[in-house]
Amino acid sequence: MLIDSYDRVVDYLRVSVTERCNFRCQYCMPEKPFSWVPKENLLSFEELFEFMKVAIDEGVKKIRITGGEPLLREDLDKFIKMIYDYEPSIDLAMTTNAFLLKGTAQRLKDAGLKRINVSIDTLIPQVAKDISGKDVLKNVLEGVDEALKVGLKVKVNMVPMKTVNAQEIVDVLEYCKARGMSIRFIEYMENKFAKEGIAGLKSKELLEILSEKYSFEDEGFDGSSPSHYYKMDDGYKFGIIEPYEDDFCKKCNRIRLTAEGNLIPCLYFDEAMSIAESVKRGDIKGAAAVLKEVVRTKPEKNRWGGEDGEVSSRAFYETGG
Ligand code: SAM
Ligand code: SF4
Repeated sequence: MLIDSYDRVVDYLRVSVTERCNFRCQYCMPEKPFSWVPKENLLSFEELFEFMKVAIDEGVKKIRITGGEPLLREDLDKFIKMIYDYEPSIDLAMTTNAFLLKGTAQRLKDAGLKRINVSIDTLIPQVAKDISGKDVLKNVLEGVDEALKVGLKVKVNMVPMKTVNAQEIVDVLEYCKARGMSIRFIEYMENKFAKEGIAGLKSKELLEILSEKYSFEDEGFDGSSPSHYYKMDDGYKFGIIEPYEDDFCKKCNRIRLTAEGNLIPCLYFDEAMSIAESVKRGDIKGAAAVLKEVVRTKPEKNRWGGEDGEVSSRAFYETGG
């Protein structure tokens, strides 16, 4: 079992399989980065899988594939199948913008993928274009429909921003509710790669908007999920991810691996240790030692909302969010 210095059990690994993306979301990658990680520096799926085995053997129970946009990486279903075949009980999930999901959802499900989280910030085509830099909404919604049809569980992530999509909070919630999908509103997290001037809605503001239409009860946190849940009168639950809140990191159970093999203990900070050399050499003990050291040095808290007004210098497209 992996336990950090604050007695948190770390059993959740998020794996970014590429930092590249077909969207240019304002809050994440508004411009194409000056340079991408060279392709030769990316770990192959075989190398990534070597590390998945180490992590599973050390106690990881949940693996989420993310990016950049994970569906840009060829043969993703084969990587999923490798993990599934090694340990079928792993909670195997993926976060995607869904643009390429139509036509691939069945293959991913057959390979062993159980759940997906899809980013849907709007249901208005022009707003989707303004947020992501291209005309994406039709493909995204068709991708979601197909994922539901093949039996994948789908959760939706929305980042509400003032003057951009705040007026659609209820509409997106209703869209999810009608399809039996849960929704999590993610507070915009400031980072130095995002477009300047974005004003995200904080949890209090979101709740004010939602309470004009619904009544709901505060359900608190569910296990180690970062979402603060609220239950509406009809039983539907929505979540809010509030990284600016003081107790947000208390139950954090996750670490992140980038596509080039940097293992990151916290989304906010720059610190990382590489497992690339170990897995390339087939040095299982070395990879396990790096994993344990990263868990040991996991910081107690992020610094969003800190008094010094810092913003993170980590790119979400690199860490996978
Ligand atoms: N491309 C995929 C997608 O968009 O779902 C996966 C990668 S993306 C980095 C993962 C999640 O991070 C998405 O739900 C996205 O909304 C969220 N995200 C990215 N930048 C963010 C920011 N500045 N604040 C809050 N959430 C952010
Ligand atoms: Fe791409 Fe996802 Fe970042 Fe948008 S949030 S730019 S879809 S990685």
